[in-house]
Order: sequence, then structure tokens, then C-alpha cells
Amino acid sequence: MKDKNCIFCKIANGDIPVEPVWENDKVFAFKDANPQAPVHVLVVPKEHYASIKELDDKELMGELLNGVKLTAQKLGLSDYRTILNTGESAGQTVFHIHFHIMAGRDFTWPPG
Ligand code: 5GP
Ligand code: ZN
Repeated sequence: MKDKNCIFCKIANGDIPVEPVWENDKVFAFKDANPQAPVHVLVVPKEHYASIKELDDKELMGELLNGVKLTAQKLGLSDYRTILNTGESAGQTVFHIHFHIMAGRDFTWPPG
């Protein structure tokens, strides 16, 4: 299912043009519009799920993580931070599940 009001549905399905980084039939990776690191890419399913809480398809869960791995591999990254924000107080602002891949600088732990 797509959500016609969802910005990441529009991006993942080509309705809003962005610079693609990696994709297959189920997963799309593209550059974050407001990068917080020299490399900042988002990895989303082409189908709409608001967050991990709504996603029960284990195969798609695996596809997403594989998308993270293959995107990082395509970018030639050795070290990178992967983030999955779930819910407003965890920092989620776009309610279409997405992994962040960030790289190109040092990261601190714990994150803010
Ligand atoms: P969240 O805060 O939900 O974990 O992450 C949402 C991310 O989506 C933010 O890093 C924000 O910069 C990015 N973002 C929001 N709207 C757009 C957009 O229209 N295009 C792109 N490329 N990134 C977006
Ligand atoms: Zn969506």
C-alpha cells in the first residue's frame, strides 16, 4: 500500500525526483535533504509503513537491512552509523519507516 500524502512514498515511487543512491524492487535509498554528516542517506521500503511498529513482514525487514548494507557497500563506506528512529520522542519526523546511513565524520555514543 502507498499513502498518497506521504513524502517518502512519493520519493520511493518516483513521483518526486531525487538523486537515487541504490534501489531494488522493494527498497530505495536516496540522499537526505538536510544532511547531518558528509554522507547521509535514507533507506526506505517502496511500500508504506509508518514505522517498525507497523511492519510485520520479516522478509521486508530483511530486505531493508540488506538495502542498508548494499547501499553502504555501493558508497564504499567502511564505518558508518545506522539509525532507525521510532516515534516522535525518539526523533522520528517522517512517518514512513527509514534507516539513516551516516558517515564521513566521527560519531559519539550515546547519541543525543
Ligand atoms: P527522522 O527524523 O524521521 O528520523 O528523519 C527524517 C529525515 O528525512 C530527516 O533527516 C530529513 O532531513 C529528511 N527529509 C525530510 N523530508 C525530506 C525530503 O523531502 N527529501 C529528502 N531527501 N529528505 C527529507
Ligand atoms: Zn509512505
